Amino acid sequence: MSERLGGERFAGSFTQQEPIPEAGIDAALAVLRHGRLHRYNTVAGEVAETALLEEEFAAYVGAKYCLALASGGAAMACALRALQVRPGEPVLSNAFTLAPVPGAIASIGARPVFVDVTEDLTIDLAHLEAQAKASGARVLLLSHMRGHVCDMEALMALCDRLGVRVIEDCAHTMGAKWKGVPSGRHGAVGCYSTQTYKHMNSGEGGFLVTDDAELAARAILLSGSYMLYARHRAAPAPEAFEALKLDVPNVSSRMDNLRAAILRPQIGLLDDRRARWRALYQGMERGLARASGVRLIPRPQHEDYVGSSFQFLLPGWEPARVAAFVAAAAARGVELKWFGAADPAGFTSRYSHWHYAAPEALPQTDRILAGLIDMRLPLTFSVADVDQIARILTEEAAAAARADVPGQVAAVTAD
Ligand SMILES: *Cc1c(COP(=O)(O)O)cnc(C)c1O
Repeated sequence: MSERLGGERFAGSFTQQEPIPEAGIDAALAVLRHGRLHRYNTVAGEVAETALLEEEFAAYVGAKYCLALASGGAAMACALRALQVRPGEPVLSNAFTLAPVPGAIASIGARPVFVDVTEDLTIDLAHLEAQAKASGARVLLLSHMRGHVCDMEALMALCDRLGVRVIEDCAHTMGAKWKGVPSGRHGAVGCYSTQTYKHMNSGEGGFLVTDDAELAARAILLSGSYMLYARHRAAPAPEAFEALKLDVPNVSSRMDNLRAAILRPQIGLLDDRRARWRALYQGMERGLARASGVRLIPRPQHEDYVGSSFQFLLPGWEPARVAAFVAAAAARGVELKWFGAADPAGFTSRYSHWHYAAPEALPQTDRILAGLIDMRLPLTFSVADVDQIARILTEEAAAAARADVPGQVAAVTAD
C-alpha cells in the first residue's frame, strides 16, 4: 500500500488482558460474603478454596504435591529454601530472564551465576556445564523465559550427571509441554506465576509443584502453615512434617481464598488459551516471515508452547538502527520491548543491570540481547490485529534497513 508516510496505526492495547471468568467472579463474591479469606479460616466440614485450588492444579500438571503462594517470586524463593540453599551459595540461572528470578536467589542471600542464552533463546547447555563446574553450584533455577523450552531430556541428563537439582521457572510455560510432559514436571520443583500478565490471572499469585514429600513439607511449613498443615490436600501425610516442623522457619507467603476462588475456574481454560495464543503466535510468524533483517525464533517440534509473547532477533543491526525501528513502531501504536537498550525500561532489564549479583560479562548473551525484540500478545488481540501489527513491523523493518543514517528513520515515520 502507499502508506509510508503516516501509514496505518494499530489502536489496540498490548497490556489489556481478558476479564476474570464469571464463575471466578461469583466464587470471589461468595468468599467476600462469608469473609473467611485466610486459607486456614474454615468452618467445620469446609475445605478452603486455596486447598481445592492446589488439588486441582496438581491434577492438571500431574504432580503429587502443590502449594499456592503469594507470587511466582515467592514460589521460587520458597523452592530454593526448601532445597536448603545457604547464604553465599552459588545458584545457576539464565542470563536471559526476568528480574524476579535472580531476585529470588538474592532474597535468600545466595549468589546468581548466569548462564548464556542461545540464538534460539534457551539456556546454552555447554555454558551451563562450564558454569556448573566452575562454580560448584548444586542448584539450577531454570527459567523458561518467554516460553522457550530447551531440550529437556538433554538438560536433565546433564544436570543429573553434574549432581545439580533443577527448579523450573514456568511463569511463561504454564499449560505448555515438552514431549507431552507438562512444563514444570522435569525438575525437582516447578514454579508458576498467576500474576496478571501470565496464563492465569489473580493479580498476584504463584504455585510450586513437586513429587518429593520432604520438599513439599518444607515448602508448606516455609509458606507459613503454622501447625495447620493437615488442612492441605495436595500435601504429604502429617508424618512427613513431624521431623521438620520445629526446624523450618515461617516465611509468610501464603495465598488467600479470594485469589484461589478467582483462579480455580481458570485451570480448565488453560488448554483453550494455549490454542488461542498459538493462533496469534502463528499469525505473527506468518506475517513477519519476509520482514527484512529479521530472524524469527525456530520452535522445536517437541515444544507444545503457549505463545503469550513473541520475540524476534535483528542480528547485526547497529543500536541506533534498532532504536529507530522501535521508535517508529511505537509511533504507529506497536509497543516493542528491546532487551539491548542501554537502560532498563518497564518490565525489561537484562543480567548486566543486576549489579547486586556482580555479573561477569557474557559476550554471547550480549550479542544476542543486543538485537532481541519482544512483544506481548494478549488474548484480547484477534488474528486480524496480529496481521496488522506484522504489516506495520514489516514496513518499518524495510524502512530501517534502507536508512543510511539510522537516526533519520524515526524522523521519516513519526506521526
Ligand atoms: C513474571 C515472572 C516471574 C514471577 O513473577 P511474579 O510477579 O513474582 O509472580 C518469574 N519469572 C519470569 C520469567 C517472569 O516473567
